[in-house]
Amino acid sequence: MRAIEVGVLGATGVVGQQFVLRLAAHPWFRLTWLAASERSEGKVYKSVAPWRLATPVPDDAAGRVVEPCVPGRGPKVVFSGLDASVAGDIESAFAAAGHIVVSNARNFRMDPLVPLLIPEVNADHLALVAEQRAGKGWPGAIVTNPNCSTIVLALALAPLCPFDVRAVVVSTMQAVSGAGYPGVPSLDILGNVVPFIGGEEEKMESETRKILGRDGGRAVHPMIISAHTNRVPVIDGHTMTVSVDLGARPTPDEVVAALRDFKGRPQELNLPSAPQPAIVVMDQPNRPQARLDADLGSGMAVAVGRVRPCPVLQTRLVALGHNTVRGAAGAAILNAELMHAEGMLD
Ligand code: NAP
Repeated sequence: MRAIEVGVLGATGVVGQQFVLRLAAHPWFRLTWLAASERSEGKVYKSVAPWRLATPVPDDAAGRVVEPCVPGRGPKVVFSGLDASVAGDIESAFAAAGHIVVSNARNFRMDPLVPLLIPEVNADHLALVAEQRAGKGWPGAIVTNPNCSTIVLALALAPLCPFDVRAVVVSTMQAVSGAGYPGVPSLDILGNVVPFIGGEEEKMESETRKILGRDGGRAVHPMIISAHTNRVPVIDGHTMTVSVDLGARPTPDEVVAALRDFKGRPQELNLPSAPQPAIVVMDQPNRPQARLDADLGSGMAVAVGRVRPCPVLQTRLVALGHNTVRGAAGAAILNAELMHAEGMLD
């Protein structure tokens, strides 16, 4: 199979670096174009990307010159790790110029014509792309992945939907890498918990209902969600405690079985980035933990543990996912893999 050329918008950022790393060894995609802001434009990638990953900068990317985010210059398929303050204008300009933009940014997630995709959960929402092209007049397209904490919650809730999810209370403990680089000042976060992440609670509540909804998410799921989001001194991995009211009143063993059996299109199609299984259920009473479990399934699996009865909302559990992989770059790459498998990148 001939590799598909791809580019990255916002290639120098925290998420952009994960794109560069994961695309360097991808069996279907070949990374040939890196773009970022005027600050980085015209400079060699390794000199402007504040590389923060344990694996060295891939050779091919290291010496590549960073280009401006101008549509028409890069390959047809571009991943976006752009800052939200600029992603709206840049991504729509790329879609209008015929590019397929597979984005991490929040700007288009709640647009009724844009899929907010988790391939295991709502692969059918990709049908929105045809309506998007007609509605917006774009020859290209924009497909988004959810916020980094939403994706963990939605993946943990999807197997429980047959039990009639009515209400959810979720409290997060989110890693500092979720705030980009340099992110939260060390004096604010070391030895501390910051009980506020701007816009995060609203995103978890609205995005989850769109993802689990019908008709491409336009008929949102009727569940009620209350989210509390907190920043904690963890480098990678968002952990969350979840209480969920399940109308069918399943036992914890039935909930565990549903989580363990869960699989979606990526697992059926054996997509290159698909974790097998998508959800790792842990039996140990003190797991999952961010430092030990965020890399499960190469960072693409969601770990769930401590499934037990909840005296207030029927069932409770702990969920964990890698925020810059499953919650960002890895999620977008899995979206693109599904789109390719569905013939949408040709
Ligand atoms: P980041 O480290 O601050 O990186 C931002 C990127 O945007 C950089 O490449 C930067 O380029 C580029 N950029 C900024 N202004 C620009 C402009 N005017 N024109 C072109 N490029 C510009 O942020 P991040 O954490 O990687 O997040 C990137 C996006 O992903 C955000 O929308 C964020 O909300 C979303 N996201 C992040 C996470 C996470 O865990 N970090 C998870 C899910 C979603 P320069 O280096 O040249 O300035």
